[in-house]
Amino acid sequence: MTSIEVAGVQVDTRHYIGGQRIASAETFTNTSPIDGSFLGEFARGGKTEVDLAVEAARKAFPAWRDLGAKKRGELLENLARLIEENVETLAQIETLDNGALLRSHRRGVMPRAAMNIRFFAEWAQNELKHEDFETRGHTNKVSWDPSGVAALITPWNAPLMLATWKIGPALAAGDTVVLKPAEWTPMSASFFADLTKQAGIPDGVFNVVFGYGAEAGAPLTAHPGIARVSFTGSVPTAKLIAHAAADNLTPVSFELGGKSPLLVFEDADLDLAAHLAVEQYDNAGQVCLSGTRILVHEAVADEFAAKFAEKVAAVKQGDPRDEATDIGPQVHQKHFERIRGFVDRAKAEGADIVWGGEPNDELGGLYFKPTLVKNPRPGSEIVTAEIFGPVLCMQTFKDDDEALEMANGTEFGLAAVVVSGNREHAEKVTKNLVAGTIWVNCFFVRDLRAPFGGSKKSGIGRDGGTWSFDFYADVKNTVFAPTGWKE
Ligand code: ADP
Repeated sequence: MTSIEVAGVQVDTRHYIGGQRIASAETFTNTSPIDGSFLGEFARGGKTEVDLAVEAARKAFPAWRDLGAKKRGELLENLARLIEENVETLAQIETLDNGALLRSHRRGVMPRAAMNIRFFAEWAQNELKHEDFETRGHTNKVSWDPSGVAALITPWNAPLMLATWKIGPALAAGDTVVLKPAEWTPMSASFFADLTKQAGIPDGVFNVVFGYGAEAGAPLTAHPGIARVSFTGSVPTAKLIAHAAADNLTPVSFELGGKSPLLVFEDADLDLAAHLAVEQYDNAGQVCLSGTRILVHEAVADEFAAKFAEKVAAVKQGDPRDEATDIGPQVHQKHFERIRGFVDRAKAEGADIVWGGEPNDELGGLYFKPTLVKNPRPGSEIVTAEIFGPVLCMQTFKDDDEALEMANGTEFGLAAVVVSGNREHAEKVTKNLVAGTIWVNCFFVRDLRAPFGGSKKSGIGRDGGTWSFDFYADVKNTVFAPTGWKE
């Protein structure tokens, strides 16, 4: 069987290399986190398939590079339109594969995947310019040149959306691509590959190799034929990739984890704060940006906790295909066990579990209840490690200095949420927070023009606008002398 039927379409289970579907001798099993049902066997790629894909991408590179931003933009616009036309299909595929809410996929995530492609295609045509500057009569001209093959390694929490954050700028910059999607969620990338073909993107410009990280990801990131590695995932895997890329000095871009603070100050609107706190359970907590450490001023801690509890009580856990569901299952049994391990160890230490703290037995399977741990022991793993599940911690602080010390006191620096009713106060606090993105009285507002990435162990580099092209392209300066011209 080389395809799976989902939502009335066939999802191919083979690699997409040089515009062809290619099988592997071995396969890996893909199941749905919704109910553990068997979805299909996917081609299990290794070095052989990676070599083929990089070769195909290298072969396609000169023509794609020479096409120019405008012609590439037309093809990428076709692709964006095709994603839009297939939002419902893509939403069904993704929900079945990773268990995230169908309604979010329909209304937010898949339209954003189209937007990612369109935005970067337009940016490459209209915004990639730098004013010339003069040096003693010489003219400096800056350009962003295609760099070669971009290797993209992506995670399972928002598979297609996060992949298009990379595919969009890479293809718009004139690079060709080899994508290795996460093994737990291969399906949307496969259907997307068909859309690239329909859009008229030439064979070999976009390639997908399925398989495990150690078998397919590792040879891809170590490949001497690639020009860039862009990775979103965990810190331990990022270290392996950095080592793999080091031999060829391949530039890397990493978006990694977080243990972001959500700071509720004494002057905050506590209803808003409680609303924002509940949002941190979105996608069953499988969001790198989540503000999982809730830090509250001691004077308002009880009032905030009461409002938070009231809102959590209204959160509905269940089948992610149901419109009324707010929180679905975790993505995979292994990940579910990892989350349970964190919570069980915290319990064994005597942690105060305010709510949740266990699987949702009514639903069974991979559903873990939204959980709040109060006053965890400072330095314990529940408050320092990224859990990537519906598990939040709550601690109190007595003044701004202590709040900042706690907020900045982790190895991560991806995001922070600040809730304050006083603009001056909020500005003072944000100035001293170490984070790639800070949201004040809001959460998850994303503009593709803005830089996105992590400080400290949360990442290397920034995506968004020209920052993306600074990574995927070779930035070049050409100096024209005023002399030496014959005409
Ligand atoms: P998680 O542990 O949460 O699944 P990872 O960071 O391990 O997150 O996975 C993100 C992506 O990295 C996946 O596509 C996975 O296959 C890939 N990956 C895992 N190990 C490696 C590796 N050694 N080299 C390259 N890619 C890898």
